[in-house]
Amino acid sequence: MFYLEFPQNILGYIAFRIYNKNNEQSYYKYKDACITHIPGRWGAISLSRFIFADDVYFKSEMIKHEYGHTLQSKKLLILYLPVIGLPSLIWNRLFKGYRLRNKKSYYSFYTESWANSLGGFEEKVNQYKEGSKN
Ligand SMILES: [Zn+2]
Repeated sequence: MFYLEFPQNILGYIAFRIYNKNNEQSYYKYKDACITHIPGRWGAISLSRFIFADDVYFKSEMIKHEYGHTLQSKKLLILYLPVIGLPSLIWNRLFKGYRLRNKKSYYSFYTESWANSLGGFEEKVNQYKEGSKN
């Protein structure tokens, strides 16, 4: 049902082609997903089967969490971006102060806790690490 994962599958594919045009060694397969390395310290993002990760996330356990978003895309299909993608982005970018003030984990939000349980990623207890995650 990959073709029904619209438009995140198309966006992911285009980004995958752009970032792998010159360097074919910059990605690896994880299950049925492609993990592409994009240098820097910006976090990670999942667009259907295409996952993009920075220097920190590329070969880390966090890929399990990102793959959880891939599984959400498979379940929600066309609803993925409005139900998960957009709320996740807003939670990531605009609620950092709220999380720090209230000692809320980044993974307490439904988009993130669901991705963790689907992907089999376990957050370390009392870890309120803040960064750029999607
Ligand atoms: Zn996430």
